Amino acid sequence: MNQNRRVEAPPADWVLCPSRRRFLRVALLAGAGSCIPFFAEWECAGADPLGLARPTGEQQKQVGQEGAAEVRKKYPELPEDDGRSRHFRSIGERLVKALPSADRKPWDYSFHVLESKTVNAFALPGGPMFMFTGLFEKLTTDDAVAAVTGHELSHVRFQHWANAYAQENREKAAVGAGIILTHAPLKAAVLAALSQHALNLKHSRRSEDQADQGGLQNLIAAGFNPNGMLQLFTTLEKVQNAAGGAPPAWLTDHPDTAARFRATQERIAAYGNKHPWPPETPLDYASLKG
Ligand SMILES: [Zn+2]
Repeated sequence: MNQNRRVEAPPADWVLCPSRRRFLRVALLAGAGSCIPFFAEWECAGADPLGLARPTGEQQKQVGQEGAAEVRKKYPELPEDDGRSRHFRSIGERLVKALPSADRKPWDYSFHVLESKTVNAFALPGGPMFMFTGLFEKLTTDDAVAAVTGHELSHVRFQHWANAYAQENREKAAVGAGIILTHAPLKAAVLAALSQHALNLKHSRRSEDQADQGGLQNLIAAGFNPNGMLQLFTTLEKVQNAAGGAPPAWLTDHPDTAARFRATQERIAAYGNKHPWPPETPLDYASLKG
């Protein structure tokens, strides 16, 4: 493993949106040596580079596993049998069961808790999902945990990383700098570059909104109370206010939390009165420890 490649702290997504531009340059340079044969393959075969630019499902899973290994080098993961790990996993698995099979079967969803004060959660391509204790301990209902998790599951099943990567790669291919992927398993250097890209991805606002919407649907289908998502946004607002009013660095590029709250309120209201929501389930984080 190249020691120069490391997780840009802290990793990608959702409430957290570090600039990925700097990383992207690194990633392309790191992959440059390996992209030459891919270009040659494409040119000889005369294949459509646009079709080849998007990583396949199997490649996404490879990238996610590689990225997860990088994450574990940086953050300690709670043991699988820790009460917090078990609780997060049970909520995640309940959401996965409620997904349509087309969204469930292709992916290797897994649920992990990282020991860190960072108020965040994120998913990697193909299914690995990480919750920081810094966010977990602030959530007071299972429904709010399910809201975070449903949002992240949506990024995986809607293949947001692969779509974003393909879009960027198409733009670079136009000036002869893109990496052309075949459907073969990824070679080590390309895999390392792609996993770094995934770790530092800043999702577009459109993707974030789609993940909020998909997460809410999933939450409801799994029998959670949708107000959990509103609680989540309220918690994020409090974190922001506690930081002195100025948005913390990880929120500066992110869709406005108040706007996400309003959009979610409207979506819940659109269900009308025909759905009596189940009661919220209180979460006692302290009792889960150990
Ligand atoms: Zn997100």
